[in-house]
Amino acid sequence: MIISVASGKGGTGKTTVAVALARSINYCQFIDYDVEAPNASLFLKPDIKYIKKVTIRQPYFLTNTDKSFKRCADFCHYNAVASIGDEVVFFSELCHGCGGCILVGPEGAVREKDVEIGEISKGFCPPGINFLMGNLKPGNMRTPTVQNELEKNIEYDNHVIIDCPPGTSCSMVMSVKNSDFCILVTEPTPFGLNDLMISVDVLKNLKIPFGVIVNRFGIGNDEVLNYCKNNNIKIIAKIPNDLNIAKYYSKGLSLIDFDPIWKNKFNDIISEIEKEVLKK
Ligand code: SF4
Repeated sequence: MIISVASGKGGTGKTTVAVALARSINYCQFIDYDVEAPNASLFLKPDIKYIKKVTIRQPYFLTNTDKSFKRCADFCHYNAVASIGDEVVFFSELCHGCGGCILVGPEGAVREKDVEIGEISKGFCPPGINFLMGNLKPGNMRTPTVQNELEKNIEYDNHVIIDCPPGTSCSMVMSVKNSDFCILVTEPTPFGLNDLMISVDVLKNLKIPFGVIVNRFGIGNDEVLNYCKNNNIKIIAKIPNDLNIAKYYSKGLSLIDFDPIWKNKFNDIISEIEKEVLKK
């Protein structure tokens, strides 16, 4: 069973919930899909055993051939190539590695090479969490390529907890698309409600069952609760707004370290989700 933990808005406590779920089960695979800013390792402290570089094929231009690369610049939809006279400027961060400029450019003058864009790391957290994370190199825009590499390593026969990137863009869709169930973490504020509504639309379109955990319960107003009630969306749990939880978080400790009662609560949440998934 794959449970993803997502949130339309960043900073709502998504990683807090994902880590608490993993620590409750203790025997699972945990995947940090937030490859642009992975931080779950700060809380799970895995012993990293294996790192694989993620590369893409990118062009390079033989500029001493007196050939024009204007057709490459005209072709590139991502504006990764600019041609000024017989000069060519290549913006590697914008290149999507489609290979088009090699096909349309002067024969033999555009070649390809492997370029590293990030890495995936595998580790272990006792007693039984297989940890996997992706890390995109700063300034790079190939988030889905690193996430694709993570997807190849999903342990489908294990319990899998996925910590998604914030928002509702392609990288979030990539992270939730294999889920049996998605937990949306939000906070009871106008921003939290707005971004929750967008996330709900995405999950409905993807036909992925979901429920909501309200974090920092006690701040803001009742609009998130009312929205969930009016739309028949299950609120799975409410995590109180407690300065001590934030203090634990700042020390790299989890909700379960703060109060072991959360271990039972998250175990119950997983059992409920399992029942719901099996019903379908
Ligand atoms: S490989 Fe594709 S994306 Fe990259 S520079 Fe060439 S045409 Fe543009």
